[in-house]
Amino acid sequence: MALDVEQAALEWDSPLFRMALAQFEQGLEHADVEEDVAERLRYPERAVMMSVPVRRDDGSLEVLAGYRVQHSTVLGPTKGGLRYDPHVSLGECTALAMWMTWKCALLRIPYGGAKGGIRCNPREMSPGELERMTRRYTIELRPVIGPEEDIPAPDMATNEKTMAWIMDTYSMVEGYAVPEIVTGKPVSIGGSVFRREATGAGVVMVVERACQRLGWDLAEQRCIVQGYGNVGGVAAHELAARGARVMAVSDISGGIYSEAGLDLAAVDAWIEEQDSLDGYPDAQHVSNSDLLELPCDILVLAALEDQVTADNVGRIDAKMVAEGANGPTTVEADAILAERGIVVLPDILTNAGGVTVSYFEWVQDLGRLFWGRDEIRDKLAEQIGDAFDRVWDLSEQLGVTLRQAALVAAIREVAGALTARGIYP
Ligand code: NAD
Repeated sequence: MALDVEQAALEWDSPLFRMALAQFEQGLEHADVEEDVAERLRYPERAVMMSVPVRRDDGSLEVLAGYRVQHSTVLGPTKGGLRYDPHVSLGECTALAMWMTWKCALLRIPYGGAKGGIRCNPREMSPGELERMTRRYTIELRPVIGPEEDIPAPDMATNEKTMAWIMDTYSMVEGYAVPEIVTGKPVSIGGSVFRREATGAGVVMVVERACQRLGWDLAEQRCIVQGYGNVGGVAAHELAARGARVMAVSDISGGIYSEAGLDLAAVDAWIEEQDSLDGYPDAQHVSNSDLLELPCDILVLAALEDQVTADNVGRIDAKMVAEGANGPTTVEADAILAERGIVVLPDILTNAGGVTVSYFEWVQDLGRLFWGRDEIRDKLAEQIGDAFDRVWDLSEQLGVTLRQAALVAAIREVAGALTARGIYP
């Protein structure tokens, strides 16, 4: 019996996967793809669930749920981040894996999409607990990852350190160093310079190009950044470096706002000491939901999915929304933003700087040959700029939103490859 998302209770079904599927269907309307090929791409190729036993510092044992979903291997090995978060689920990973497929295809990177993670609360875990959990998870993943199969990377609450543990665990089992098993690892073990900054820098490269097309001067824009983490922190600095006014930023503890603009160096120093924006003295404190509704020109969403919804979209007071996070705008809200004439720079284009430099890192590892910072930044600007131009031009040509254009361009790449390869057997 054929799989049917509406009728069968598929194990990976979830609100976020339905959102990814709804976007896929919107892209299909203009992508001119054979139905068999479309049907194949509606489902992940493989979805793995595992249990991960973790010895806590007090000696007790806790067993956590871990996941890895590989959506498509049509264009190459799969690629995608790992997140440690209490909301991680098979359905969430499936949606994010599908988006990774479109993102890689849009950027013309020879990868398919994957995503994984562990359902846990990393903020309540010690470094030792995180290390033991990561190493055990790596061993559980061992049958399905590999430099030619699936290459993990950082995502929410995982970082260079996490990637170093994965690289070391995998290498210990293989018996030799395998830096190309993960990206986003420290430079000292084969990481790429500029990988840490790549996603946030890419967000601002896309924002800058969009401003050029619209005839706006980026230096005159008032900006708000939700999620002052890896992506949002770098994006805020890149905006400020171009003269834009960063008026508000937030983290999980809430937001800080100053109409005159925040002193980001002072904010960084506070976070360094306090580990959060909570209590920051030189700004007004706002909730995360109020932050989204403050008047501004450019709203950068860089925290998590499902932030601009049918409930709050009417109160968004920005001219442009840039999606640094994956899936921050629901399908309903997206349509309303389009009706209101608010430009949405879609996630699969806007946050693609991370996977692009991850790809550069993997290529450098495989070749055992490393490039400098300027070279990588220039290559990223060229690759993301080319994708931006294709998306912008296609959106004008088809008369559709930038999100639809990005999906159409991406789906055409994957569908073309699948048609050429054929559906096995
Ligand atoms: P991160 O953990 O470094 O930062 C996330 C930030 O969001 C933190 O400041 C956190 O406190 C804040 N946050 C968490 N929950 C929040 C909430 N409810 N309200 C407001 N802020 C909240 O993670 P990151 O790597 O910067 O990832 C952020 C988003 O960007 C995710 O959607 C991720 O999938 C996406 N992304 C990341 C990369 C990458 O290279 N790291 C690449 C592409 C997309």
